[in-house]
Amino acid sequence: MANVHPMRRRLRPHPKGRQVDPQVAEEARTLTAGLPQERAWLIEHLHCIQDHFGHLPGDHLVALARELHMAPVEVYEVASFYHHFDVVAHGEEAPPAVTVRVCDSVTCALFGAEELANTLQQRLGSEVRVQRVSCVGRCDQAPVAVVGQNPVTNAGIDEVTATVARSETDAPMPDACDYRTYRNNGGYALCRALERGELSAESVLQAIEGAGLRGLGGAGFPTARKWHILLDQPAPRIIAINIDEGEPGTFKDLHYLSRDPHRFLEGALIAAQVIGADDIYIYLRDEYAGARRMLEHELAALQADPPCRLPNLYLRRGAGAYICGEESAMIESIEGKRGMPRLRPPFVAQNGVFGRPTLEHNMETLHWVRDIVEKGAEWFASQGRHGRHGLRSYSVSGRITEPGVKLAPAGITVRELIDEYCGGMLPGHTFYAYFPGGASGGILPASLGDIPLDFGTMEEHGCFIGSAAIIVLSDHDRARDAAFNAMRFFAHESCGKCTPCRVGTAKAADLMTEPRWDRGRLDDLAQVMADASICGLGQAAPNPLRCIFKYFPEEVD
Ligand code: SF4
Repeated sequence: MANVHPMRRRLRPHPKGRQVDPQVAEEARTLTAGLPQERAWLIEHLHCIQDHFGHLPGDHLVALARELHMAPVEVYEVASFYHHFDVVAHGEEAPPAVTVRVCDSVTCALFGAEELANTLQQRLGSEVRVQRVSCVGRCDQAPVAVVGQNPVTNAGIDEVTATVARSETDAPMPDACDYRTYRNNGGYALCRALERGELSAESVLQAIEGAGLRGLGGAGFPTARKWHILLDQPAPRIIAINIDEGEPGTFKDLHYLSRDPHRFLEGALIAAQVIGADDIYIYLRDEYAGARRMLEHELAALQADPPCRLPNLYLRRGAGAYICGEESAMIESIEGKRGMPRLRPPFVAQNGVFGRPTLEHNMETLHWVRDIVEKGAEWFASQGRHGRHGLRSYSVSGRITEPGVKLAPAGITVRELIDEYCGGMLPGHTFYAYFPGGASGGILPASLGDIPLDFGTMEEHGCFIGSAAIIVLSDHDRARDAAFNAMRFFAHESCGKCTPCRVGTAKAADLMTEPRWDRGRLDDLAQVMADASICGLGQAAPNPLRCIFKYFPEEVD
């Protein structure tokens, strides 16, 4: 190439690569108007096109690649990674205009999701696409079918078909506490006090530390320690807020977001002042479409009448990938890439969003900051049971009378939770088993229903509490079915980056369809997944499987 005369290159009759129809290019530009022409915004561009067509036409992806100065293959590999994008190559048939997504994860499966999906497919015919999908975050109202973006809860066949017939595909906005009401009730006063020096950053840190607040997305890392780590990193610093709860059984973030969105935003603004962050990224799962519209509205209200100097606030929309709940995968997604976990070190506190030191928090963690600072560390820390401290938001679903988010003492046992907070078991059902921490937290028998539910208490039993998603099974259920459902979920959601997880989850799910489980092979697979997977998805995927051999061997022998 070094010897090619420059004039020869200019004589090429057409630009290199696939050509873009000017009309398609113009259409893509119009659909994505207003968005920055940067690759970091690729997923938002893709949403604009997907929302318009109901799929992603290949020609428009090529046009988009040209606009963003990317290779078409780079755009394709991102678009094809996420479950909510439907790439349709030139000449291929587009999917039907309406898609009904039926959740078939653990709790919905208990309440007849399989039959619902099968019957809907027959009833709705080929004009509507029925997909079985992973948890949509409404396990307390199982089963759930989402028509377009509109969730139909406690879904029956007739309700779903009627919703389709009426073309009700938009999600309703939740009736949340709005900006004005929140401020009138003392909201954002702490941010103002911090800015004016009436409240010190040190006192905020002491309150968070004294309360023992921990990361409530599942990892349980001490919050104050995380903030201190960020303070040791060079500016500029960034905050990334994770509202991508996708763990089957978890719906607490949606609960708080739908009712009181400014409480976590105030927590984020306080954190931004304490650690000195200039940018806040909010990553919200795509399944929460109604909450997203509400949050856009409330962010606009906050920015129109700011209570203090605001950092840059960016709301980013997920696209249906469970793995983006993993902090580094979420950051990749914020940067417009496939949501694949990063190898660590470096940790995101050192090298996070766009290479900057990043304070990553689950939304609920920030939700508690205002209350802890206002009411004092002791208010939070003095709550708890069985020697544990603090409050936890348990997402409780399954065979109980009153499912929902239960704000209860850390350390409460599942029996106490069922009896005191959930109205007991459903009539005719006897407590048999439970997931203490969503699909990845393992399964325990009712005989171990008196263990305090908290970080660090379940590990000796091969489980963990994670995001406190409690799924209760009864004598009408088999633990092996729930474990199989969980493994199938992990196989579907594995990002594919590492072999132990990509192959191990698929192979294990396959072996778990046998009437008698091959313990030797499944144990081997479980060991490799736990030891050699890159991230928590693959490492925790064997937990339910291992629990079956340990606690329910009679079900699989
Ligand atoms: Fe991806 Fe699974 Fe490996 Fe995590 S463990 S990086 S989800 S393949």
